[in-house]
Amino acid sequence: MTGRTAPRIAGHYFDGRTSARREVTLTLDAFGVVHVEGPGVDRFEPVAGISVSEPLGGAPRLLTLPDGAYCEVAVQAGRDAFIAALGHSDSHVVLAQSRWPWAIGSAILLLVVIAVGYRFGLPWLAEKIAARIPASMVTTLSDQTLALLDKAAFDPSKLPEERRNRIAEKFRRLTPPGGLPVPHEVLFRASPRIGANALALPSGTIIVTDELVKLTENDDEILAVLTHELGHVHERHGLRLLVESSVVGFVLTWYIGDVSSLAASVPAALLQAKFSREHEAAADAYGASMLKGNGLSPALLASMLEKLEASHGSPGAAADDKSINDYLASHPATRERIEALRRQ
Ligand SMILES: [Zn+2]
Repeated sequence: MTGRTAPRIAGHYFDGRTSARREVTLTLDAFGVVHVEGPGVDRFEPVAGISVSEPLGGAPRLLTLPDGAYCEVAVQAGRDAFIAALGHSDSHVVLAQSRWPWAIGSAILLLVVIAVGYRFGLPWLAEKIAARIPASMVTTLSDQTLALLDKAAFDPSKLPEERRNRIAEKFRRLTPPGGLPVPHEVLFRASPRIGANALALPSGTIIVTDELVKLTENDDEILAVLTHELGHVHERHGLRLLVESSVVGFVLTWYIGDVSSLAASVPAALLQAKFSREHEAAADAYGASMLKGNGLSPALLASMLEKLEASHGSPGAAADDKSINDYLASHPATRERIEALRRQ
C-alpha cells in the first residue's frame, strides 16, 4: 500500500419519505464520517449513527442514517471493504456462512486457542486443581497406583532390611529446603523389568528399586535421588500431570461417550505420563538445594543421572517398557540437567 485513499462506493439515496431515488457516492473520511454526495444530497454522517443491513445473498446492503434516510448499495468492488471500514461487524454466523476465508480463519483461530490453552492453560489449571485435591483422595490414588505397580512391575526388595531402614532414616534426617517438611515414605522394590529407577507417588511415597541401589557407591548417592523425587512430591508434579491427562482424557471420553473407562485408567495414567523438562528441572533444583543445605554436593545427583542413563542404554534409546514412567533416565534433556547440576 502506498498512499491512503478514502474508501468510496456508489449507491442510491432515498430520503425515507418519498420514493425519489438519487445516485450518490459515499466517501468515508479519516475521521469516521461518511459523506453522502449526489444531485440534491450533501450529507455528513458519523459512522456511529449508521446502521447496516445484514448481507442477504446478492441483495443490496442498506445503510440507514439516523433520520430514516438510507442508501442502497449494490454489489460492487470494494463494497465489503467499505462496510468493514464502517466498523460494522456482521454476525459471526452470517460471516461463516457467506465467507469461507472467515470460516477457515475462525477454525485456525480456534486451533491456536486450543494449542495455547493446552500448552499454557492446561498446566495452569492442573496446578490449581492439584492444589485442591483432598489429601484422602491423593492417598487413595497413590495406594492404587502402588498396588498396580506391585502387581505388574515390582517384586519385594531383596536388600537387607537394615540397609533399607538406614537409608530411609538418613533421608528423614535431612533438612528440606526452607525447612518445610514434606511428608514422605521411602519404599524399596526389586524390579528386573524396569531396572534402576526411582519414582514418587503424589502421596509422598517414594519408591527406589534395588537395581538403583546397586548402581550406587554410597548412601549419599541414593539420598541425592531421593531429594530429586521429594522435589516432585513438593511441587505436586505427579498430581498435576494426572490432572492434565485426566482433563484431556475426560474431554476425549466425553466426546467419544464412554466416561466409565476413565476412572479405571487413572492409576495407569500416572505411570504412563512423563514429566516435562520444566518439572525435571524444578525437581533437580529442589534436590540441589536440599543437598547443599545438608552439606552434600549437587554433583551427586549429576553422577546418578549419568549412571542411570548408562544403565538404560544410550540416550534416546527406547525404554524397555514404555508403560512404566521412567522418571530419571532416558530423558532427552539428561545431558542438560547433568551440566546444570554440576554448575551448582
Ligand atoms: Zn524426575
